[in-house]
Amino acid sequence: GTERLVNFSAGPACVYEDVLVKAQEDLLNFEKNGLSVMEMSHRGKAFTRIIEEAEADLRELLGVPDEYSVLFMQGGATAQFAAVPYNLGWSDDVTDVGFRPRADYLTTGSWSKKALAEAKKVGVDANVVATGDNKSIPLDAAAWDVNADSGKKSKYFHVCANETIQGVELKGLSPRSVLDEAAGGIYQGVPLVADMSSNFCSKPVKVSDYGVIYAGAQKNVGPAGVTIVIVRKDLLGKVREGTPTMLDWTIMDENSSLYNTPPCFSIYMCGLVFKHLLSLGGLDKVEQINKAKCGLLYDTIKQSQGYYDCPVDPKVRSAMNVPFTIPENPDLEKVFLQEAEANGLINLKGHRSVGGMRASIYNAMPLEGVEKLVSFMKDFQAKH
Ligand code: PMP
Repeated sequence: GTERLVNFSAGPACVYEDVLVKAQEDLLNFEKNGLSVMEMSHRGKAFTRIIEEAEADLRELLGVPDEYSVLFMQGGATAQFAAVPYNLGWSDDVTDVGFRPRADYLTTGSWSKKALAEAKKVGVDANVVATGDNKSIPLDAAAWDVNADSGKKSKYFHVCANETIQGVELKGLSPRSVLDEAAGGIYQGVPLVADMSSNFCSKPVKVSDYGVIYAGAQKNVGPAGVTIVIVRKDLLGKVREGTPTMLDWTIMDENSSLYNTPPCFSIYMCGLVFKHLLSLGGLDKVEQINKAKCGLLYDTIKQSQGYYDCPVDPKVRSAMNVPFTIPENPDLEKVFLQEAEANGLINLKGHRSVGGMRASIYNAMPLEGVEKLVSFMKDFQAKH
């Protein structure tokens, strides 16, 4: 094929074409340095500017307050599943050898369950307040199991802001306000930790609601290889003894993410994406575009009169990952995927754990890409 495909992959995902072109222009000789970014010293002048600008642009985009540190780390969001329990709440009140900090988890789908499993491995006393049914989000705090009798104050409360596989997204209501009201106030002051891997920079976020935000870059803001962590600085310095250096936010913070060789080229690419998002008009504008895209797709599913179905509660339908099925005739799903691919619409297969189809329509998926998909869906319905 000579033409670029419309890529609905859940990640690594499509990147803005303007950004790819800019990277191509820079590839052999970055700003007359005589080198590619991937060949440069991570401590040299050119790369220092790249990483500092990337951070400054991200701070501007998301409105990150000064009392937060921005870290560029490695190991994906999966490494952060472990970093979170390693870093939070260990040195406060360690009085006995067997001390285990308590943490709370709201499990809304596959990724929050993985985060929970990792916390248990690290040795945190993890309390699951509620488990979702993969279609909705149990935000009714009155029904939560808050384990109030444990006598332990929670060190953090973990949520997944967007479950990439189930297509379930925390929307509208800030989880911070839910926490502040919950269970007679036992979560007041408890840092909220959010895995934003699949909706990072897709809409404005009130960063001060969170103690920690983390996200792999490969969906909304760049290529795989770099993981962004935004952590409130007063939470640093409470790391578990024996924490591997590469998972230690305090060490990363002290070294401006340059303790060791960082994923230089990925950071550079993220920097280009941040500049692009700013040039579009910032995250308010980005959210507006994303709403138009997912609205078109969900409307098409609704208007198909049951031919297509999205199992997710409309209140929490993700703007990023849209799962759908052909409920009356599941055998047709294979045909759908084959014909879609023949039409240049690729990576629409649902995650192996849930089946069906899933269209991931992150920031860089243009509206025209979604228009092509819905036009294909209508033709397919008419034909089959
Ligand atoms: N959390 C979420 C919400 C994700 O979508 C993913 C990746 N699909 C992960 C965590 C794991 O990320 P990584 O592959 O970067 O470790």
